[in-house]
Amino acid sequence: MSTLIIENLVAGIPGKQILNGINLTLNSGEVHAIMGPNGAGKSTLSGVVMGKPGYVVHSGSVTLDGVDLLALPAWQRAQAGLHLILQYPTEVPGVHLDDVIREAYVSRGRDTSTLDAEIVAEAARIHFDMALVERSMNVDLSGGEKKRNETLQLALLKPKFAILDELDSGLDIDALRDCARRVEAATQEDNLGVLVITHYARLLEELRPDVVHILAAGKIVKSGGPELADELETTGYAGLTQ
Ligand code: ADP
Ligand code: MG
Repeated sequence: MSTLIIENLVAGIPGKQILNGINLTLNSGEVHAIMGPNGAGKSTLSGVVMGKPGYVVHSGSVTLDGVDLLALPAWQRAQAGLHLILQYPTEVPGVHLDDVIREAYVSRGRDTSTLDAEIVAEAARIHFDMALVERSMNVDLSGGEKKRNETLQLALLKPKFAILDELDSGLDIDALRDCARRVEAATQEDNLGVLVITHYARLLEELRPDVVHILAAGKIVKSGGPELADELETTGYAGLTQ
């Protein structure tokens, strides 16, 4: 079993503190949802934990099985077992998805001899068009295709923990179901731990959270069970963040 621990994390961008002391412990196989109003710091939290450039950490720690993630560049955090699905997946002209996955396998010392077959099997599982595997990463893909593409990478790379930053943004209902079910399956099959950032209870119907946290103004102001997401649907954030 693995554990991702975020302790007293205070961080932001130069000149602006956005996260005001985040504490969160995520174990293998668990799904924790983070909900909260726009501008609360949800994407900042995902970027700081993954090591996206541009953020400043003032204090606190992020560890994965005791390894100090904050001391590592993003690619080493990925090798340590962390994976981020960005709210807006990056377009990378000239770079193909299968090449990216092959490089990631090699950097992890994993055997690539059956990779092509693994890609075909995983693509079928989430209804991802194989023709897109040989196109430039995310270039001119629809919102749904981009998130299926990201989910395909997650399924193949089998990280210990995944952060999904609004996996549901820009997705139609079928794509949302395919992606969410694949991630939910990974929590069962591979013991994946998930931090899912979302505004909508719909995603959480597929990807059933063990814990729901409400993030407001850079702090977790409330944590509870899945019923907290339903409560939000009726009360909105106003009732919970005061
Ligand atoms: P959320 O994902 O919860 O909507 P964000 O983490 O994206 O919130 O942003 C939190 C706050 O920090 C917002 O007020 C946002 O405008 C600000 N912010 C985030 N990143 C930057 C940046 N690179 N430059 C300026 N402001 C930023
Ligand atoms: Mg965001």
